[in-house]
Amino acid sequence: MSVEQRYQPHDECPLFSESLEAHIVAVTRGTAPNHGTFCGNCYTPLARDSERCPHCGETTATRAPVDEIPAEVIEMLRQQRKTESSIVNSFAYAGFIIAIIGGLAIVLGIPYLRAHLLPATIVYTLILLIGGRTLAGVLGGYYGDHIAFDRARTRLRAQWAEWVREP
Ligand SMILES: [Zn+2]
Repeated sequence: MSVEQRYQPHDECPLFSESLEAHIVAVTRGTAPNHGTFCGNCYTPLARDSERCPHCGETTATRAPVDEIPAEVIEMLRQQRKTESSIVNSFAYAGFIIAIIGGLAIVLGIPYLRAHLLPATIVYTLILLIGGRTLAGVLGGYYGDHIAFDRARTRLRAQWAEWVREP
């Protein structure tokens, strides 16, 4: 099994096809057995009688399908998802911190609020509830998600490249 023949992920063609990712998630949750027919190249689940992988195009004649996903590949996906979620979470957390500090600055910056505790508390609470959620959503959901995807992918590509080099 030479390195050049192995599936090399690039941006147009993710290493984990949606069906492989869904299958691995089911396996790790215990709702599906790690057994079936998988592409011998990219491990996408195949129909029993299919002759060509729908994801990478490898034919079963060139590379025989395997009947389980290697533990290393499952671990790679687990780590990819972990990297993604921890980056998204830290961006969301940063959004809340900005709302906490920014809200305090707004309340303290308005003389009327500085002198009246009850309205100040209400305004601050609203800033935290609305601003915090919005910022967390925007930072975590948009920026965090984009950065997380790139980061996790870069890492995944390195892991995959290292793994296919092993005999
Ligand atoms: Zn394939």
